[in-house]
Amino acid sequence: LEGDQEKLNPIDRDIERALRPVNFEDFTGQAKVLENLKIFVLAAKQREEAMDHVLLHGPPGLGKTTLSYIIANELNASIKITSGPVLDKPSDLAGLLTNLEENDVLFIDEIHRLNPIVEEYLYSAMEDYKIDIMLDSGPNARSVQISLNPFTLIGATTRAGLLTAPLRARFGINARLEYYDAKLLSVIVGRSAQILETPITAQGTFEIARRSRGTPRIANNLLRRTRDFAQVKGTGKIDIEIAKFALGALDVDEHGLDEMDNRILHTIIDKFKGGPVGLSTIATACSEEAETIEEVYEPFLIQEGFLKRTSRGREATEKAYKHLNIVPKHRTG
Ligand code: ADP
Repeated sequence: LEGDQEKLNPIDRDIERALRPVNFEDFTGQAKVLENLKIFVLAAKQREEAMDHVLLHGPPGLGKTTLSYIIANELNASIKITSGPVLDKPSDLAGLLTNLEENDVLFIDEIHRLNPIVEEYLYSAMEDYKIDIMLDSGPNARSVQISLNPFTLIGATTRAGLLTAPLRARFGINARLEYYDAKLLSVIVGRSAQILETPITAQGTFEIARRSRGTPRIANNLLRRTRDFAQVKGTGKIDIEIAKFALGALDVDEHGLDEMDNRILHTIIDKFKGGPVGLSTIATACSEEAETIEEVYEPFLIQEGFLKRTSRGREATEKAYKHLNIVPKHRTG
């Protein structure tokens, strides 16, 4: 998150903040996850205890960070934000933990990328609200135990599978966020348009929603870019025509697949006869990192039925051939 936010210019950051839901009420979708979280928050508040630690996983842009802010807000607690790669040394973690007030929330994004030594320190912090700190080094080295205020750790990851077993075991609450359907994304686009004071028709809203890869972050971005087109090329109002024009200009295709989605499918079909082909081979051919393909692109392509994962690698489906207007020559079916 900090990384994301640093890359944004101040105006973008302000808009991001304005569009971010602040309580359970504002948050659209993920109904089952929300229903459970509401109960855990309420129970913790009634007992005046820290809520149990929460692991949120799912593809980027589905609301993990947003939900963490909401949980803290609903708990009337403060939230401290960091990420796995940023927590370089145990002392970085100790600094954060010792500054938490009672029942506060610590959010660690990309928690699967924690340095193993830092992760080890986190275990006792999560379990007993205690950490051991080494003072001095060499012959004077000694370790002291520091008690922490009870707190809730919220870890977010795009790759739950990469979490170590001991870390995973220390989360009492485990929630998986799913891609949003077009109806839910329409609600989100409508809400965002209202906050941005951009007039938009129901059809315009739906067009943006259904072409947003099931992802609120993308829906908000496409809304903002479409708003630019409406302002410069139209009357300022987003209707179906301007939405279609803008999305076309932004290289978002009819199914909401973006340029890299299509490049991946084309590569598998054109260069590898539709597969099966290994992930790293695809990655090299697409000039993209294997990790990014696996975390960002593949889950959506699989969910939408364009791609299959088999034991021998990735395979393009009939739907992918149809989508790209290619006749599957090498196949009988
Ligand atoms: P993640 O942490 O999973 O990558 P974020 O929480 O940063 O995703 O969400 C990305 C953007 O999408 C945020 O700016 C937020 O405003 C918006 N967003 C995410 N989920 C929702 C939702 N359910 N309703 C409304 N907006 C959402």
